[in-house]
Amino acid sequence: RIVVIGSANADLVLDIDHRPAAGETVLGSDLVVTPGGKGANQAVAAGRLGGDVAFVGCVGDDGYGELLRRSLTDAGVDVTHLRTVPGASGNAIILLTPDGENSIIVSPSANRRVTEELVEESRAAWAGAAVMVLQLEIPLATVAHAATTAHAAGVRVILNAAPAAALPPEVLAAADPLVVNESEAAFLLGGVPAAAAEPGGAAATAVALLDLGPRSVVLTLGADGAVLAARGAEPGHVPARKVTAVDTTGAGDAFVGALAVELADGRDLRTAVERATDVAAVAVGRRGAQASYPAREEVR
Ligand code: ADP
Repeated sequence: RIVVIGSANADLVLDIDHRPAAGETVLGSDLVVTPGGKGANQAVAAGRLGGDVAFVGCVGDDGYGELLRRSLTDAGVDVTHLRTVPGASGNAIILLTPDGENSIIVSPSANRRVTEELVEESRAAWAGAAVMVLQLEIPLATVAHAATTAHAAGVRVILNAAPAAALPPEVLAAADPLVVNESEAAFLLGGVPAAAAEPGGAAATAVALLDLGPRSVVLTLGADGAVLAARGAEPGHVPARKVTAVDTTGAGDAFVGALAVELADGRDLRTAVERATDVAAVAVGRRGAQASYPAREEVR
């Protein structure tokens, strides 16, 4: 079993010609509302691939809460520990501009209610799990509590340190693997540019991340694939599939969800990264985040 503890957001997506300056009003496209949030995305990705997945999180009692809940259940995710709390669901307001530099505002709302207490209440869901998956769109105290208690209970913790935030050593030490992209890696290493343009630079970055304490590291490199590093082994590079990228939204989440399924099934890290790379390649070839995630048959 895989347990994902994390965020669920309704993504409110608008195309605009240019981002409004102070005091300016601009017209946008029709609003598109899609289920998102790193936690829910990863749970849906894993569920679509046939994983036995439970999601622990919070949505609001607004209409978005129902949308988010339905997307999880449609993917076969167990939502016994998905709480509906009074007030707004989490939202991400995503402004897509022709320059490709999209602007995003995340409003955590219900995700702030994913507390240590909820982690304890859902202990039955994760205590016997093979893998717990965590990201940083819920309170960091909750992530720290979940990571350290799950690790102590013998549950393998996949820690996707996104969006970038400082983490205490005991949380990093619980990660196996720590999964980050290049900008998150640079943040964790104190703002040192990842120098990941050359494969050798990325391998050095992955090894530097390993020195922060995790058992293993996966550094994702977009169209350049991913580098993995583990104690006592040479770092390895897994190239990405050559695909025409249509929409990379949620590619990292598809990758993490697939990684969780493979590691829960007992695959070694390299094999798991190879299969996650295949799944992410399908996801970048289609529009949307959760909408782009493939079923297992589609990946072959
Ligand atoms: P994030 O979306 O979190 O920033 P990345 O951009 O590193 O993460 O992408 C995560 C994974 O998705 C990559 O390791 C790769 O496997 C896949 N991926 C991303 N962009 C592409 C692309 N253009 N072509 C093929 N695979 C891609």
